[in-house]
Amino acid sequence: MSQQITKRSSELFTQAQKYIPGGVNSPVRAFRSVGATPRFIVKGRGNRIYDADGNEYIDFVSSWGPLIFGHASPNIINDVGAALKLGTSFGAPTEAETTLAKMIIDCVPSIEMLRLVNSGTEACMTAIRLARGFTGRDKILKFIGCYHGHADSLLVEAGSGLATFSTPSSKGVPQALANLTITAPYNDISYLEEIFRLAGPEIACVIVEPVAGNMGVVPPAPGFLEAIRTLTSQYGALFICDEVITGFRLGLTGAQGMYGISPDLTVLGKIIGGGLPLAAFGGRRDIMEHLSPLGDVYQAGTLSGNPLAVAAGISAIERLQKEKGLYGRINYVGSRWVEGLSKLAKEKGIPVTINSVGSMSTLFFTEGPVTDFASASKSDTQKYALYFRAMLEAGVYLAPSQFEAAFISAGFMLLDEIDDVLEIASKALDAVKEAK
Ligand SMILES: *Cc1c(COP(=O)(O)O)cnc(C)c1O
Repeated sequence: MSQQITKRSSELFTQAQKYIPGGVNSPVRAFRSVGATPRFIVKGRGNRIYDADGNEYIDFVSSWGPLIFGHASPNIINDVGAALKLGTSFGAPTEAETTLAKMIIDCVPSIEMLRLVNSGTEACMTAIRLARGFTGRDKILKFIGCYHGHADSLLVEAGSGLATFSTPSSKGVPQALANLTITAPYNDISYLEEIFRLAGPEIACVIVEPVAGNMGVVPPAPGFLEAIRTLTSQYGALFICDEVITGFRLGLTGAQGMYGISPDLTVLGKIIGGGLPLAAFGGRRDIMEHLSPLGDVYQAGTLSGNPLAVAAGISAIERLQKEKGLYGRINYVGSRWVEGLSKLAKEKGIPVTINSVGSMSTLFFTEGPVTDFASASKSDTQKYALYFRAMLEAGVYLAPSQFEAAFISAGFMLLDEIDDVLEIASKALDAVKEAK
């Protein structure tokens, strides 16, 4: 393959940096951790994206999860187009919002009522406020390495011991707020039990990614989600399942259906917006009725339930319900990808761990096993950067960070294509090996 030309992307990045901090509107897009220049994208179709220099890439990012059908899905474009002709926002209720709410509620048994918002961040932030308002407690518990958006209470990292305070993971987050967020290692049931023994009656909620996607993919250990359910029930805390990634990716019932758990509140985003800005939180009716205007937990949004986003969401969920074979197909393609990659790494003697659930996976450059943030952090990010750059140069667009998931979309229709990508991956892994 000839050397890729990226002149236009580089120029656009230079321009962008003059007007936008770091040239991007979300930090990971800047490609800093992989030492590359971001590609400026002009269009997408199926599982392909095209940059400003005309390079074509096979896309494993899928806009970080939402695009389960791939780019420019015709049904979503049609339905959003039809909604667009009627106006872009009314600031008043529309029938379509009820339609979408009912569709989601019909799919996910633990959700009895829900509210639509604009981003996963907003949905998680409000779910936590609701849990605090409902329980009358201030403390919350999150797991190290799980991401729930960038609300203040959630941008914290572990302190130095079990009973110590968490510390803000961003400047600008008050220590006073971090003091209210308890952190625990993912998948560590006895640690969780110990925290509940110490502070159980003060905890408003536990929020968790039922399959972690934001430290790379880390599946829940057997009994982990069940332990959260048991402990929260026992101590009167709420169980918030953050299914912003896993909702409608691991099936119509999400991770909670897959693992057979029933949380009090669920947060959804990404896929339910069909590629437009939309997210939701919902759950038990008796809890949701504490939201304004019924109750005294405040939440609002100028563009909440936006008609274009709602049209995209309905379109996406309708297709997922109709196309029965879709999950089987993307999961099968996903397993072929993971098996192929695993075989290549083994043949070449490169120590890796590949975690996957359904159509989401992460190749960690560490012997593993990877079961939590500490073990994920053992990955050799230099090696990932080499691998990433070699893949990108050869036309495969992976997440520009070791600690993210690769997503298979329905845009991957041909298994031959996975074989082609595996051939590219073989060369990229050779580059990793040579660099040692
Ligand atoms: C992406 C994500 C969020 C935040 O959603 P935004 O729409 O980016 O604000 C929250 N939780 C999880 C699990 C996510 O993956």
